[in-house]
Amino acid sequence: MNEGSARVINGREIAANLYQEMKKDVERLKERHILPGLAIIRVGNDYASGIYVNNKIKRSLEIGIHAKQYHIEETVSQAALIDKIETLNNDSKVHGIIIQLPLPRHIDPFSVIHAIHPAKDVDGFHPINVGKLTLGEPCLQPCTPQGCIVMLETVIKDFAGLHAVVIGRSNIVGRPMSTMLLAKNCTVTICHSYTKNLADITRTADIIIAAAGKPKFITKDMVKKGAVVLDVGINRINLGDDNYMMCGDVDFKEVSRVASYISPVPGGVGQLTVAMLIKNVIKAASMTRSFLDKVNR
Ligand code: NDP
Repeated sequence: MNEGSARVINGREIAANLYQEMKKDVERLKERHILPGLAIIRVGNDYASGIYVNNKIKRSLEIGIHAKQYHIEETVSQAALIDKIETLNNDSKVHGIIIQLPLPRHIDPFSVIHAIHPAKDVDGFHPINVGKLTLGEPCLQPCTPQGCIVMLETVIKDFAGLHAVVIGRSNIVGRPMSTMLLAKNCTVTICHSYTKNLADITRTADIIIAAAGKPKFITKDMVKKGAVVLDVGINRINLGDDNYMMCGDVDFKEVSRVASYISPVPGGVGQLTVAMLIKNVIKAASMTRSFLDKVNR
């Protein structure tokens, strides 16, 4: 790995190349009379969720995927929401279903996620997919960590024995991320809010994945020279007078002085998260009905 001024891992560029490939995959599916379909359920009017959903739909349509938002009122009951999911589970034109999080407080996200058929779970959050990922079996994998692996693979040829430190242990980022790095034969350390002497640990890392949701939390003194640093964090900072700035968990400017490669925010991991979602929809659409029937629920 290089030392000195870091090179930027450009998420936009990597995603753009992947989209070109995905367009061809969709064309091939269409030749087999399969039009990949994505259903996105959004409950309530969370502002950020609206932006994320629109972005996912726009990208899907650009690639040739049929994508539709089901925007449901905030007061919907959990039972009615699960009924909606069941309808989509049984719709052969829908290959991928996602529930945009967060959900209103009266709805248990686990129950809702568990209701999605595992073969249509393109977010990779269903326990069957989580279990398969842990066992190293083929499955639909969570998008953000999958995107991180794609980014890392552009700059690291051999992961074996590298020390990867993952900061954050959420079900959607930190945990699956550590499983995927383990599968690449890294030595993995998972850190969280109870971790003692975090900087001592990060300073021994060849790879740092920052996913704590804390603005500019990873500073230069926490990073070993030559480390590869991926910034998953998306933080909205209020600059006053209704001005907001988006920043990651990493102090990009300072850490760039010591890392070998670093991903920016925006234009980094977030770009790959959407790309991996679309990749998962294509993967789900490629699965045959018989596979779908075989999946144990
Ligand atoms: P969560 O809030 O679910 O998890 C945050 C994790 O960080 C927790 O495990 C928490 O520990 C840990 N943490 C918090 N403070 C510290 C600390 N001081 N030291 C060490 N660990 C700490 O967040 P998510 O995993 O959902 O998301 C993380 C960030 O990534 C957010 O900024 C989010 O917006 C962003 N994100 C970006 C995506 C993208 O596409 N780029 C996609 C998904 C998320 P504990 O478990 O002990 O509470």
